[in-house]
Amino acid sequence: MMTVIDTAPRTAPADATTSPPRAGLPSLAGLSRARLLAALAELGLPEREQRMRAAQLWHWIYLRGVTSFDEMTNVGKGLRARLAERFTLARPEVVVEQVSADGTRKWLLRLPPEIAGDRPHDVEMVYIPESDRGTLCVSSQVGCTLNCSFCHTGTQRLVRNLTAAEIVAQVMVARDRLGDYPGATRATGPGLPTEGDRLLTNIVFMGMGEPLYAYDSVAESIEILADGEGLGIGKRRITVSTSGVVPEIERLGREVGPMLAISLHAVRDELRDELVPINKKYPLKQLLEACRTYPPVSNAKRITFEYVMLKGVNDSPADARALVRLLAGIPAKINLIPFNPWPGTRYECSDWETIEQFSDIVFRAGYSSPVRTPRGRDILAACGQLKSETERLSARERLALRAMAAAE
Ligand code: SF4
Repeated sequence: MMTVIDTAPRTAPADATTSPPRAGLPSLAGLSRARLLAALAELGLPEREQRMRAAQLWHWIYLRGVTSFDEMTNVGKGLRARLAERFTLARPEVVVEQVSADGTRKWLLRLPPEIAGDRPHDVEMVYIPESDRGTLCVSSQVGCTLNCSFCHTGTQRLVRNLTAAEIVAQVMVARDRLGDYPGATRATGPGLPTEGDRLLTNIVFMGMGEPLYAYDSVAESIEILADGEGLGIGKRRITVSTSGVVPEIERLGREVGPMLAISLHAVRDELRDELVPINKKYPLKQLLEACRTYPPVSNAKRITFEYVMLKGVNDSPADARALVRLLAGIPAKINLIPFNPWPGTRYECSDWETIEQFSDIVFRAGYSSPVRTPRGRDILAACGQLKSETERLSARERLALRAMAAAE
């Protein structure tokens, strides 16, 4: 239904380009090379042929973004038919698409059940365009266990970790919707990148969930996303943002090596215990030591410290000076994030002058400290908000249906 993207903020259901998987047939979209090989073995393909066929599938699925086996012109008709009998290339269904006046796009995706009998689950992702890049913020879990007090997703219970394929599929859906494959019709509209030949260039694991609690899926998905013969989003353009799961930070750097971001938000344990409760388990001292020793860290690969600006809570000049002292010796960037309020929150966003004053102190200490421009405020862009709103709507609809049934 909604294929033309314009500047007006809106909410719309999915269109046919992201049809849900055919019941019962698994999708190959999002699988690693090893899992594609296993799928080909399942089809009974001779071993000597599997590697070559897996490379062909990889090219078509990830580099070209095809949604039908029929488009794989260098794969014989017979094999295409056998593939189509057992598998699909379906992506998760787009339940809601919102396009902000500033070009930010937000999607609510419905994931088919992982195991028989389970119900589908919804996750969010947000695309944030800038002139020289387009960043997709992906989810790693359905809900979250961590209850950070300023975060809307923290109000939703954890349902499960996403699989690597479900994480990769988020990127594929975004590329589908943006027309971001070679030969596709690219999305148009204000705010989209004007430099480079791709609209989606960067990934941040900063959507729903704590990515280091879904370590295996996140690690596997990064290897798929970064593969130069496929989606080709290099590890320097992939950032994993953690609230501070200290034991997994070193492992992530050593085994996978993406960029790292820390949801810091407070410079004293007492306050961070409240804002980011995992701090009670891994306090600031341990967290910062893990950052200092993060294997890939260097002046060229700085760690980003996210700091949400909460009025009267963490935004004083003394907090800014303490932040500078805390990060001494760590190659760091500081992202100041104006708080994006959501219904029911007890926090407010700091005043603009306060944010500027904070930023000046950090900048004078030698840190790049961009203030992230609030994006997509007209489309419920606070993480987790769209899912909650949609669930509320569904609940209202269910009640209305029950009332109608009772009246009949
Ligand atoms: S900030 Fe991240 S880790 Fe904390 S509750 Fe929200 S989604 Fe979970």
